[in-house]
Amino acid sequence: NAATTKPLEIVKEAVVDTMINNYGNPSSYHKLGLEAEKLIKESSDFFAKVLNCAEDEIIYTSGATESNNMAIIGAALAYKRTGNRVITTSIEHPSVKQAFIYLESLGFEVIYLKTTKTGKVDIQELESYIDDNTILVSIMHVNNEIGTVQEIDKIGQVIKNSNKNTIFHVDAVQSFGKYQIDVIKSSIDLLSMSAHKIYGPKGVGLLYKNKNIRIKPLLIGGDQQKGLRSGTENVPGIVGMYKAAKYVWKNKEKINENMLDLKKTLANKILDNIPGSYINGPSIEEGAAHILNVGFKDIRSEILLHSLDAKSI
Ligand code: PLP
Repeated sequence: NAATTKPLEIVKEAVVDTMINNYGNPSSYHKLGLEAEKLIKESSDFFAKVLNCAEDEIIYTSGATESNNMAIIGAALAYKRTGNRVITTSIEHPSVKQAFIYLESLGFEVIYLKTTKTGKVDIQELESYIDDNTILVSIMHVNNEIGTVQEIDKIGQVIKNSNKNTIFHVDAVQSFGKYQIDVIKSSIDLLSMSAHKIYGPKGVGLLYKNKNIRIKPLLIGGDQQKGLRSGTENVPGIVGMYKAAKYVWKNKEKINENMLDLKKTLANKILDNIPGSYINGPSIEEGAAHILNVGFKDIRSEILLHSLDAKSI
């Protein structure tokens, strides 16, 4: 469930229904097109409400890999005349890490912040690196492998206090629907999420972009989504993502409580019954409820994985 989730029945139904009954091109001005556009608008209104932004600050993408690339490369290219320094952490998802490696190849100075053993960013260290030349900081909210939760409120505040023009990007793929996110309160300018981590379809996600900042689009063409992401919108995918997000948002507390119960039971039974087993990353309570990373002594991970797989685990 950290790698992906099974789509909900309501999601499947909404995707199929949209494909059959609302297949219009949202850029067309006839009835079928306008109906499709209305569906996108309804979805954007919802995401704007939960993130505390405006509806026209939501850009739909093919998933978080695209959102992360678009945010990081797009912002760096748009502001390359303002500064040369960009900052991230050493434990980001490859879709962030590789985007920074690409920026390095273009001549940007990339700072990779080290983390503590449990994956936490040292906020003072971050502060020490932000100067007048720093155009972007990208830090994930919840780590996908060990479940570390970063203090994005504090991080946002420190970034803006150090340089009000430094753009703050958050990869919220593993936290969306699990934690409250307020882009204004946390001073977030760019935020990525993906539908398939929250019981939605694969191949669809979004990027929140503060309307006061610029990004250079990576996809050019028909000028859809105000020219920021050309290409006919994936209307069935967007509707599916919206339905999934609505469900997750409504049931957030219940889902998280259940997930934490399962995590505690699993972790404690493993630690109590398997000699030499240990938790990587934050403590059971401190880490995200849906992520548990356990180490086992004297066994290779692939062997363990295959033997568990044979038992349908
Ligand atoms: N960022 C994080 C933290 C993830 O866990 C994932 C999922 O693998 C991604 C980005 C990439 O998302 P997508 O599969 O939608 O491209």
